[in-house]
Amino acid sequence: MENLHTDILIIGAGAAGMVASISAARCFNNKNYKILLLEKNSKIGKKILVTGNGKCNISNNKLESIFYYSSNNNLIDKFLCVFNNNYLKKFFYSIGIEIKSDDKGRLYPANYQALSVKELLENEINRLKIDIRCEININRIKKDRNWFIINCDNFTVRSKCVIICTGGYASPFKGYNGDGYSYLREFGHSINEVFPALVPIKCDDKTLKLLKGVRWKSNVKLFADGKVIKEEYGEVQFLEKGLSGICVFQLSRLVSEFIFTGKIYNQKINNVIIKLDLLPEFEIVSLKKFIIKKINLLKNTTIENFLWGFLNKNIGQAILKRLNISQSKECSKLSLKEIDLIVMMIKNFSFVPSGVMDWKSAQVTAGGVPIEEVDVNTFESRITNGLYIAGEVLDVDGICGGYNLHWAWGSGIIAGKSAAKKIIKMGSMKDVEDI
Ligand SMILES: Cc1cc2nc3c(=O)[nH]c(=O)nc-3n(C[C@H](O)[C@H](O)[C@H](O)COP(=O)(O)OP(=O)(O)OC[C@H]3O[C@@H](n4cnc5c(N)ncnc54)[C@H](O)[C@@H]3O)c2cc1C
Repeated sequence: MENLHTDILIIGAGAAGMVASISAARCFNNKNYKILLLEKNSKIGKKILVTGNGKCNISNNKLESIFYYSSNNNLIDKFLCVFNNNYLKKFFYSIGIEIKSDDKGRLYPANYQALSVKELLENEINRLKIDIRCEININRIKKDRNWFIINCDNFTVRSKCVIICTGGYASPFKGYNGDGYSYLREFGHSINEVFPALVPIKCDDKTLKLLKGVRWKSNVKLFADGKVIKEEYGEVQFLEKGLSGICVFQLSRLVSEFIFTGKIYNQKINNVIIKLDLLPEFEIVSLKKFIIKKINLLKNTTIENFLWGFLNKNIGQAILKRLNISQSKECSKLSLKEIDLIVMMIKNFSFVPSGVMDWKSAQVTAGGVPIEEVDVNTFESRITNGLYIAGEVLDVDGICGGYNLHWAWGSGIIAGKSAAKKIIKMGSMKDVEDI
């Protein structure tokens, strides 16, 4: 069994772990300190490659705590004051990546290639001579006085500081079992209930069979116990068993919280419903006028073709199916009541969520270690001295738009730098040889 010594051990080489290692190494500035990066997967930074559909939505121009969910958003404010976009851009510039904004304020690498982000981070890790071990399996992790002792399958590591960046359950690789949470429990941390966020929403609805594959721009509202709690506009993607698309993802966090905990924003909720306004450009009255005028023009046209004139064909068919109106009925034969029902259905095309899709389809994990259990100025644990926690394993998740990576980069960079400063204060590696 090999015995290793290091100053900083980083567990998990995803977005947070990679930048943590770089910022720690830069802080050490070539002095005789050691950093070891452990990764369970066969390669480092794998998830970065799939972010932003391969383009990597690195962050956002508009950084505010309202775009995050956590148990204490004042702490997110504090974090964003330190790790703002200037800091982020400077960091990526230093590894050779220019950052560009799209028309919605989302930030991307200027080449729109996630691969470049992963590769240039890896280049910097290699340039700084940071040790990496992949495909490792940690059996035990404990603290013995001032040392963390980590037993892996083929080696044991002693380290002065440990940074845990093991991410969450979202989009897991084969064999991932969420053991990052177990390590943190060992050190006395609590783990708030975890559930998938930024994930398609499951709905049991017979008309979804008809709608499968359709994409339609809608205004989407989420109601909880009859009150609107979130509203988004965008392209809804209809799936055989549910709804997807960025606008649906933005609601999914709250739906998932309801499904898993029976609560939303910590309040007990009895039911949630999603209503799509399929033609938000029309008010109810003007839509009714528009339909009546069109009926007078098209008289003998079947109601199916009539609706097809301004709605996707399958959406029109689904509306008629829900209202039990025959598709072949001539539009001039619709009663005023039926016209009203069609108008209301177009403005309130409803779905009752029955769940959310599984972890494989989720982009982020809600839940984890409560943010109050770390000091957000350093990301050091408030429970275990020398232990740092960064990225998705903490109970912080953002909406779509680069907020989750911003959190991973920022918490990782700050944790790496703070751990290195602590080591420098503690003295050099010479002490290790004395043990
Ligand atoms: C399809 C998809 C698209 C996304 N797109 C975006 C986007 O465009 N913008 C955005 O802001 N966010 C996006 N996200 C979310 C973002 O990728 C994550 O929030 C971010 O990667 C979290 O970083 P992390 O380092 O905390 O965790 P991860 O990136 O998950 O890294 C954790 C690492 O730890 C390793 N690990 C786990 N357990 C152990 C262990 N026991 N021992 C050793 N290693 C371990 C894992 O293998 C992994 O490499 C997307 C997510 C997905 C799935």
